[in-house]
Amino acid sequence: MLKCIVKNKLDLTTMKKSTKIVSAGRDKKWTQGLVNPPVSRGSTVVFNSVKEMKQATAKRHDKTLFYGRRGTQTHFAFQEAMVEIEGGAGCALYPCGTAAISGALLSFLKHGDHLLMVDAAYEPTRDLCDKLLSRYGIETTYYDPMIGGAISELIQTNTKVIFLESPGSLTMEVQDSPAIVAAARAANQDIVVMLDNTWASPVNFSSFDFDIDISIQAATKYIVGHSDVMLGTAVANQRCWDQLRENSYLLGQCTSPDDIYLAMRGMRTLGVRLAQHQKNALEVANWLAQRDDVDHVRHPALASCPGNAFFERDFQGSCGLFSFVMKGGNQAALTALLDGMEHFKMGYSWGGYESLIMGVNGVEKLRTATQWKAEGTLIRVHIGLEDTSDLIADLDAGLARFNAAL
Ligand SMILES: *Cc1c(COP(=O)(O)O)cnc(C)c1O
Repeated sequence: MLKCIVKNKLDLTTMKKSTKIVSAGRDKKWTQGLVNPPVSRGSTVVFNSVKEMKQATAKRHDKTLFYGRRGTQTHFAFQEAMVEIEGGAGCALYPCGTAAISGALLSFLKHGDHLLMVDAAYEPTRDLCDKLLSRYGIETTYYDPMIGGAISELIQTNTKVIFLESPGSLTMEVQDSPAIVAAARAANQDIVVMLDNTWASPVNFSSFDFDIDISIQAATKYIVGHSDVMLGTAVANQRCWDQLRENSYLLGQCTSPDDIYLAMRGMRTLGVRLAQHQKNALEVANWLAQRDDVDHVRHPALASCPGNAFFERDFQGSCGLFSFVMKGGNQAALTALLDGMEHFKMGYSWGGYESLIMGVNGVEKLRTATQWKAEGTLIRVHIGLEDTSDLIADLDAGLARFNAAL
């Protein structure tokens, strides 16, 4: 008789990313035998004996039902899935990406500390430093996204966090993350290196292979993937996990199990969606690059993007988000372009299945360590899952309106 070997637990460490995306967080203790972990709503958890309550209290950090704020099986399944896909030791959940960024920074910074923040940071990240951390006596120095190992010159004795966002928001500079991590480790072992890894998602840049301490996702974008949930995650390595978990808890961060369910549902198709976003975006980017009216395209996979060599070296792929600079431009031309678009709607955020477009005014005001010198109009697009011939026709007509209004 053949002996049947039943494995209780999948070994996710040896799997390819697309397999992990399908399999992660589907332990039977979360799914109860269904394919998807159910939505477990709850605030109060009731105990029948003092012993039971004491046991739950002792294990409250450990994916055990204790009180709704600490999560239910739905959250535990998603947290486990994020760690299995992205790496690290634990995943803290936040009601949006911005909360994940502020939660991670506030967990590690105190009065008198110094923060090194990339100059191309997402605008609300910059505002957090300038308007809130400054009030708490935390000093921020912005650094050139292309600084690489020379960041060691900016590290002070009180530097506690180095924050990266790669590629940068709007202008898309890809950072030399390994050089920055090496400089941090050489200067002071206590420095915590954090990365806003939203553009790459957990798929295209493996933060923990690069010794990043905390990898942050605006899960609102590609993980959710359908423009219907706000959510943030911060995955920490072993040395930072306890401090991140404890402080996020102190800040009262919690999320709805319904939102987590949708995020997990979105996550299952992350691999195929990203592959298609990548393909479509490269087609549109290359079409833009050969136009005479386009100055240059800032897509990390194109040589015209600052840090393209680091992208080629460190990333597994790209996605649907990039920007481009026109040779000329004014507000009337930009308005003529944007007002008539058929498929590209204007909207903040990105990462859903739909194409989006945005005219970026005033980048120069968002940079202090570097200068934005481009004279032409900067436009950011998110390339969705539509047929690229429709998208290119839409952009072609838009650029004709742009040029006619110049
Ligand atoms: C959108 C975004 C965020 C913020 O996420 P929200 O969920 O909208 O708060 C943070 N970082 C980057 C790079 C983003 O694009």
